[in-house]
Amino acid sequence: MKDQNFLTENNAKQLWHPMGHPAEMQANPPKIITKSSGSKITDIDGHEVLDAVGGLWCVNLGYSNDLIKNAISEQLHDLPYYSAFAGSSNPPAIEAAYKVQEFFAEDGIERVFFTSGGSDSVETCLRLARQYHRLRGEPNRTKFFSLKKGYHGTHFGGASVNGNNRFRINYEPLMPGCFHLPAPYPYRNPFNETDPAKLAQLIAQAFEDEIAFQGAGSIAALIMEPILGAGGVIVPHESFMPLMREICDRHDILLISDEVITGFGRTGDWSGARHWGVKPDMMSTAKGITSGYFPVGAALISGKVAEVFESSGADGAIFHGYTYSAHPVGAAAVTACLEETLRLNTKVNAAARGTQLFEGVKALAEKHSIIGDVRGGHGLMTGIELVSDQSSKEPMDAATMGRIHQAAYEAGAMVRIGGNNILMSPPLIISEQEIDTILSALDAGFSAA
Ligand code: PMP
Repeated sequence: MKDQNFLTENNAKQLWHPMGHPAEMQANPPKIITKSSGSKITDIDGHEVLDAVGGLWCVNLGYSNDLIKNAISEQLHDLPYYSAFAGSSNPPAIEAAYKVQEFFAEDGIERVFFTSGGSDSVETCLRLARQYHRLRGEPNRTKFFSLKKGYHGTHFGGASVNGNNRFRINYEPLMPGCFHLPAPYPYRNPFNETDPAKLAQLIAQAFEDEIAFQGAGSIAALIMEPILGAGGVIVPHESFMPLMREICDRHDILLISDEVITGFGRTGDWSGARHWGVKPDMMSTAKGITSGYFPVGAALISGKVAEVFESSGADGAIFHGYTYSAHPVGAAAVTACLEETLRLNTKVNAAARGTQLFEGVKALAEKHSIIGDVRGGHGLMTGIELVSDQSSKEPMDAATMGRIHQAAYEAGAMVRIGGNNILMSPPLIISEQEIDTILSALDAGFSAA
């Protein structure tokens, strides 16, 4: 590795950081993380903190899982790459698909299409949804519905169903035929409805109205996160996803559950949809599938969808795929990661520590008046919305958010800022004492506001 001076000098010079302004990154270079252990990371200056972000909602098993590391290095020796496009296959991919299907069998998943990450998985689900309807003899079903505040990655399809203008505006025009329903977000919504159950009903009614207006025969799918992650950890009422499922069923609209964050235990269950008792038609996954150790995602396909493809003639062929779909090294990481996820039964700790973190943050809200809303309580996904004024709910300014972030970091925890939200998604193996450390670092952060 190059020395510290070289790294500090060149940080953000040649490297354009995703989701950052290049000039701002040059003026205020991002932290350089050099080492990790368990749920902790260390920066180039030797400062060690708890990673309350879990990488980017992905390092579910923490940074020290030797089984995944060994599986990757062994596979690199045997077969570092081979394509899985029609005509060739590889043993780790076959085994990983078997394991992933088994993992999500209870969700009704029967087939697995590997990708290189979450955006790819979303794109795959959107494309397969259109092809599914075409194969069923309804080629006009091309439109997509999604939720405002939803995040579905950065490809053109995913950005088109994305519900945050920040990720859309510079890249327009996006894909036509994409429509957005209000988010199940009691703190702010166009109905001024604070009761989550009533809000769920209102959004369901809005969906019904749009279907009636546009014609069900023009709509391919609804894509939604079971708990909205990047949008601020928005937890819908338990009735919400079942309501959406029922409406989709009644109108032959596919339900795609975007489980890139919520899959693999983060919500306290193995999938977010299962958490709400819903079986989706397809699921997009990534992140926790390898705990972030290798870039892999997967689009997961229910029996209902698979049957249509598999019983069709030539049109059922999937002319879609990535060079790194079913990458053997990635697939070896998937199998090891799933075995470890099940062995450690991480969903149990995710639920317990998630409750601890949520209750702890609610206690902090009693002390710090800048906390406008606290969201979570379903596994290790916690969002804290900061406001400069409780009654007007004026979002906290970026400079103050930055100060809080830095103070929390100095006090021992890396958190994530998303607009005026603090987002937390620590490794699912985190300990009770480590959650207490995150809470005291947050306390220090808020005191610096
Ligand atoms: N969908 C959801 C719900 C996500 O949270 C993300 C990433 N945070 C994506 C899709 C995109 O995944 P990736 O960044 O791996 O492309």
